[in-house]
Amino acid sequence: ITYSQQYINCSRKELLEAVSQVMSPKRFIHVKGVEQAALELAEQYGADREKVSIAALLHDYAKEQLDEEMRDIIISENMDLELLQYGNNIWHGPVGAILIRNRFEVTDTEILDAVRHHTVGAPHMGLIEQIIYIADYIEPNRDFKGITEARTLAKSSLKEAIAFATLKTLKYLLEKNVKIYPRAIETYNAWVVQK
Ligand code: GDP
Ligand code: FE
Ligand code: FE
Ligand code: FE
Repeated sequence: ITYSQQYINCSRKELLEAVSQVMSPKRFIHVKGVEQAALELAEQYGADREKVSIAALLHDYAKEQLDEEMRDIIISENMDLELLQYGNNIWHGPVGAILIRNRFEVTDTEILDAVRHHTVGAPHMGLIEQIIYIADYIEPNRDFKGITEARTLAKSSLKEAIAFATLKTLKYLLEKNVKIYPRAIETYNAWVVQK
């Protein structure tokens, strides 16, 4: 895949190099796995491959940034201050969207929303958001109970895969007695609850 450079100010090769420099080798392997899984889903569901590749390679861009810097960005960008009650797990999506806009001049809303929402999802997600949300869950290097079912579901229905991943993640978080970000509940209500 070759970038037309209408969505980002560098080549895919330069992007890979830049991303590898802000994270551990292990996470970089995860990111490349997300791109692979996301491109397969893009083929199947008819999404723009270039946008999907960029969103996948950048989805965890802020994951290893310092908490202090992320806090400053949440405040200076007038983001929801409720975020400050959480930590990097919840911040790296929305803060990542700001960082990649600044560094790589990404302004495409579908790419930015896919990065912003990849961890807790959103009640309304477009095709690229849906693909990144699921690719992050099923990429080839992931291994957990239920992964096979998640991969099978993703091949037959993106929506069912999202419902499955959202329910499993929420159950797991509830078992751990951790604070649930309110939008995770909204995602559950929109994608898991039968209407
Ligand atoms: P990763 O960045 O590829 O590791 O994956 P994600 O961005 O999807 O998730 C990052 C972490 O956030 C995972 O450990 C999730 O279980 C966790 N997480 C997701 N939703 C919530 C939430 O509502 N509250 C808390 N405390 N953690 C969450
Ligand atoms: Fe993430
Ligand atoms: Fe995820
Ligand atoms: Fe990820």
